[in-house]
Amino acid sequence: MKEAVRIMKVENRVALVTGSGQGIGRAIALKLASEGASIAVNDIPFNKDKANETVAELRALGVKAELFLADVSKEAEVDAMVASILEQFGKIDILVNNAGINKDGMVHKANLDNWNAVVAVNLTGPLLCTKAVLPSMRAAGYGRIVNMSSLTARVGVFGTGYYASTKAGLIGLTKVTAVENVSKGITANALAPGYINTDMMLKYPKEQLDALIAGIPMKRFAEPSEIADAALFLASDASAYITGAVLDINGGSFI
Ligand code: NAD
Repeated sequence: MKEAVRIMKVENRVALVTGSGQGIGRAIALKLASEGASIAVNDIPFNKDKANETVAELRALGVKAELFLADVSKEAEVDAMVASILEQFGKIDILVNNAGINKDGMVHKANLDNWNAVVAVNLTGPLLCTKAVLPSMRAAGYGRIVNMSSLTARVGVFGTGYYASTKAGLIGLTKVTAVENVSKGITANALAPGYINTDMMLKYPKEQLDALIAGIPMKRFAEPSEIADAALFLASDASAYITGAVLDINGGSFI
């Protein structure tokens, strides 16, 4: 049989995908690997078992894959992780800032501990990872940074004050990263997915999920692999002229 033609061009690239032990991050790691990229899997020690499963699945695709346990909100851990990846893989071409957490809460009852926890992972994490990978990307004259924002950054969704603020902030970080690094062959873009079938959503009661689905023109949540398709595009050479963009993936919901 003739070998499939790869048009997305990530072959022999090295990608760091944060929070890729499960969910969307795992789907993105598998998608990039299926197109020939080597993968640095990142997750927190709590999710080590699932992260090791991701590594095994990636290696089964025939690519190099290693696990790097680190909390993206901790500067020393991020810097040590990036140094180890550069030592073991030689370079980092692609950074997908995917790791994220959610805590619900209404603004007039805001809990500062919850706010700080969500800001640390969803906003400080991408800043630290981006800062850590940029020197080697700038020296190489190549880089693709893909930040996982959210529909909640684009419309007001009840109860998402902490989460939405971080995801809107991430769009700002994306655009500034884009302008500051465009002359070095580095692009930075954001994905803004609506609701996706992962643990993050499936913890909500069925009636609440049904009500959300009723409001989506396509009448379903996205699958993680559908977000991974978009991430692959932005991580590839096929998106060379796209930077500072936000790609909404929400089944036709109005923004
Ligand atoms: P998930 O909870 O299934 O996976 C998140 C992963 O991040 C887990 O593996 C977790 O262990 C890891 N993680 C958490 N804190 C971390 C830290 N401090 N350092 C490193 N890793 C950490 O969630 P998901 O649905 O796959 O979400 C992935 C991303 O997509 C998140 O940024 C999320 O905000 C975003 N997103 C999700 C949805 C959705 O509907 N599920 C919609 C829009 C955007």
